[in-house]
Amino acid sequence: EKLKELTKDHTGVEVKIGEEIAHTKVMKSGCHGFCEMGPLVRIEPYNYLYIKVKLEDCEEIYNETILGGRPVERLLYKMDGVTYPSQEEIPFYAKQTRLVLKNCGHIDAEHIGGALAVGAYAGIEKALFEMTPEAVIQTIYDSNLRGRGGAGFRTGRKWQQVASQKEKIRYVVCNGDEGDPGAFMDRSIMEGDPHRMIEGMMIAAYAVQAQEGYIYVRAEYPLAIERLKTAIRQAEAIGLLGDNILGTNFSFHLHINRGAGAFVCGEGSALTASIEGKRGMPRVKPPRTVEQGLWARPTVLNNVETYANVPMIVTNGADWFKGIGTPESPGTKAFALTGNVRNTGLIEVPMGITLREVIYDIGGGIQNDKKFKAVQIGGPSGGCLTEDQLDSKMDFDSLAKIGAMIGSGGLVIMDEDTCMVEVARFFMSFTQRESCGKCVPCREGTKRMLEILERIVAGNGKPSDMEELRELADMIESTALCGLGKSAPKPVISTMNAFEEEYLEHINEKR
Ligand code: SF4
Repeated sequence: EKLKELTKDHTGVEVKIGEEIAHTKVMKSGCHGFCEMGPLVRIEPYNYLYIKVKLEDCEEIYNETILGGRPVERLLYKMDGVTYPSQEEIPFYAKQTRLVLKNCGHIDAEHIGGALAVGAYAGIEKALFEMTPEAVIQTIYDSNLRGRGGAGFRTGRKWQQVASQKEKIRYVVCNGDEGDPGAFMDRSIMEGDPHRMIEGMMIAAYAVQAQEGYIYVRAEYPLAIERLKTAIRQAEAIGLLGDNILGTNFSFHLHINRGAGAFVCGEGSALTASIEGKRGMPRVKPPRTVEQGLWARPTVLNNVETYANVPMIVTNGADWFKGIGTPESPGTKAFALTGNVRNTGLIEVPMGITLREVIYDIGGGIQNDKKFKAVQIGGPSGGCLTEDQLDSKMDFDSLAKIGAMIGSGGLVIMDEDTCMVEVARFFMSFTQRESCGKCVPCREGTKRMLEILERIVAGNGKPSDMEELRELADMIESTALCGLGKSAPKPVISTMNAFEEEYLEHINEKR
């Protein structure tokens, strides 16, 4: 606001910036991803990224950079004696492959013109005018795009299954619930580049011949909701959404549903129940969502990041996409890098990168020169990986082989001082609180596990506790109704496997 105030006389008029004549415009963009260094100000056309900007820096930015074309040295990122004038050269960004997040932080997310200028809606245009719905599905299938929300199911296969249903009323739903602690990838896309995701949903709707779509966003994301509403309104105003899109006979109407913040509503059947106005609880399957999803109609349900990949694939082709990442997990993945790492933030990397590269090259290593201890990957449904697994590749299959999962993409880094029993207790208390209570193994089993973990942390553990935890975990994993329950014991089991001595220390150190 301060910068806007200072430049208001130049907005829309030509001013001299260095040797260039340009218009000055101060825009509130989406997230740049480098959370640790925020608040951030990016100056174009120079690509300067100013870090930790304070209100009192604005006059200097105005005088030196906006009027003078010179960088404010003290606000530039520095590491190991090197100053980085250009955002793209900063190691945090240089090692990333930002495709889905490409426009986040670079365009005005509140005006469709900014998105159109960088190619938004080119994918749906190509689909509508150059491809049949079947060809679109085939392209997504051939690209081997896998769902970015957790399980990694093949997106093209899901679309094929919906398209093959006899029922002709179909729906396209976007899961923007993102309830994992430490995950905010989808939020950034919705806030920073909402048209990319909307376009992905439109392409899915055209592919399966759906006319209605729903975006389910958690109510804790008010800015995302506002920007999505604005984006939908602006797309409707110029004929990109609504009836007879771009003069064709394809019509698509998009609605927003706010979730009340229940983690379980990230599960497909609970999410569709919630949109229908019912209590968000998973149901027994089959029928699956592709057969009977929203209002018992065939439904394409993907998450925000999955849809955000779709326009690029349609525009550039399946082979282009397969050239990034690994053959079985092509493309990139956005991760939220949090915890005891130097550069916390939102990153996007090609699938197959190692954990070590992410934590040390992009994340800058562990804060305060402490030793790395573990990383919780994939949120409460994921697992805990240790030092000897740092060279593991981050893709769906490699992580599954070592008992972990990408999940939605949360990465919580822990240093040598972290108590792993407390970490397990934290995640168990989260899933226990979020259990919808429908089935006994999850409702009661997680409660019992939490009680045991609480007494171990408090120094009142019993010698039989670890065995009891394993028995309960086994029972919950094999009998709980949905993924929340089935995966709830994972953080406990993986920390017990890797840090058994810590559990024993707690149990033996009676208070
Ligand atoms: Fe609800 Fe847990 Fe059962 Fe899932 S496993 S249906 S969250 S009680």
